[in-house]
Amino acid sequence: MRERKSQQSLPVNGEEVTVPDVPHLRCPKCREIVYRFDDARQLSLGAIEIYRKKYRLLSAEEIRAIRERHHLTQAQFARLLRLGSNTISRWEANRNVQTAAMDVLLRMIKDLPGSLEYLRKRAR
Ligand SMILES: [Zn+2]
Repeated sequence: MRERKSQQSLPVNGEEVTVPDVPHLRCPKCREIVYRFDDARQLSLGAIEIYRKKYRLLSAEEIRAIRERHHLTQAQFARLLRLGSNTISRWEANRNVQTAAMDVLLRMIKDLPGSLEYLRKRAR
């Protein structure tokens, strides 16, 4: 296995994102690529950062601030938005990122008074 750095692709919300200079090991014979733990983390964080910039999405910290302003747990916020129970915690930890469509909804909650109460009335 040889230590290398090159651009690698990873799907983010169904879209292939290319990240430059990702370290990894590659077998010179069969060209198999192996990511060590930190390599995989760097690829994932890099892909999420590029995707966030491309669509000018709210940051993980901004999402947390919106949720905390409304005194909601991650699970409660996820339920209001009809997301899987772990989705908000993944966004806030930069292990995943919201779609551009979901970002619009988050910005409405952030900037439009009463929008969260509207969602609450429709929650199951
Ligand atoms: Zn090999």
